[in-house]
Amino acid sequence: MAGIYIHIPFCKQSCNYCDFHFSTSLKHKNDLVQSLVKEIELRKSALTQEVNTIYLGGGTPSLLDGDELKLVIGAIYKNYNVANNIELTLECNPDDLTQQKLQELKDSGVNRLSIGVQSFDNEELKFFNRAHNSSEAESSIKRSQDLGFENITIDLIYGSPLLTDRVWLENLQKVNDFRVPHLSAYGLTVEPQTKLEQQIKTGQFPNLDDDKMIAQFKMLIEQTKQFGLTQYEVSNFGKKGFYSQHNSNYWKGEEYLGIGPSAHSFVTNKRIWNVSNNIKYINALSKNETYFEEELIDEKTAFNEYVLTRLRTIWGVDTDYLSNNFSEELNGHFKKEVQPYLNSSYLQTQGNKITLTQEGIFIADKITSDIFYV
Ligand code: SF4
Repeated sequence: MAGIYIHIPFCKQSCNYCDFHFSTSLKHKNDLVQSLVKEIELRKSALTQEVNTIYLGGGTPSLLDGDELKLVIGAIYKNYNVANNIELTLECNPDDLTQQKLQELKDSGVNRLSIGVQSFDNEELKFFNRAHNSSEAESSIKRSQDLGFENITIDLIYGSPLLTDRVWLENLQKVNDFRVPHLSAYGLTVEPQTKLEQQIKTGQFPNLDDDKMIAQFKMLIEQTKQFGLTQYEVSNFGKKGFYSQHNSNYWKGEEYLGIGPSAHSFVTNKRIWNVSNNIKYINALSKNETYFEEELIDEKTAFNEYVLTRLRTIWGVDTDYLSNNFSEELNGHFKKEVQPYLNSSYLQTQGNKITLTQEGIFIADKITSDIFYV
């Protein structure tokens, strides 16, 4: 099993919290698509396993037109061993999801939509500088479902200065009202050099409130449980059969290839990251020059990554896997660091599996940073 991630680095406008790699100018879209196709071809020998997930993320992949999508997806099918029952996800923004666009997505083989709703509240959407409004968010979900997309996930953000508990509960209620089978919900974070950082520094908006963040995270867990969604990762909630296979593969340590500027790959025990600049990426590919950096993952890094990703999921840390794959020193370190959390009921054991308890979920970051081997 392996995954392919394609980064589409274009957006209509900049959201105030976002530090991903993207450009709001579409001037080089055509050249970039050609470069993506070239990179897909160039790296075909990097993945020998069957590809069972393709994920187009960004940026805003729904800015590609039907022909561009077919070109990119077609290149993957042409060059890789793609499974029959592939999960093919496309991140999209509500304002792009016209009837025609949805039909194009269907025709290109997309079978899972990740819709960047973020909020159903117009004030908040304006604050985030999103390109859509609340009614577009609702109609895009409805239209997608009417056209036969069942596997839909939406993103929501909590903890923003404008988000009251009442509006947060209303946002969550929409997940159930629309029978959306999967939700990714993230606490707002202030990333360096974003507009949000500026807005807070200049006093335009107050700093984020940790207590409110925790209270809204609690509401999220309670509500999603009532809706029959399982929290299979700290920020991800899904009905059975609708968990993200692509992300689950990341968390389970499967290989993936990242194509496009700023995309990361994990193959043959190496991390590879592509240049985060559209022009440099296009130029390097056109001149057959290097457009990425790479590093071998040493044992310590592999241990830290395993603990960080697995502890956040319902699959947890497998102590048999640790003893079979890591040195006695790292296993000894793990046992020593988890014991206080096992004693204080933030972690639980079931056979050879260690997972977060309901209380532990709230301090997941602290637990993983304590278990980290430095
Ligand atoms: S649409 Fe997504 S990638 Fe683009 S600026 Fe907004 S959050 Fe960032």
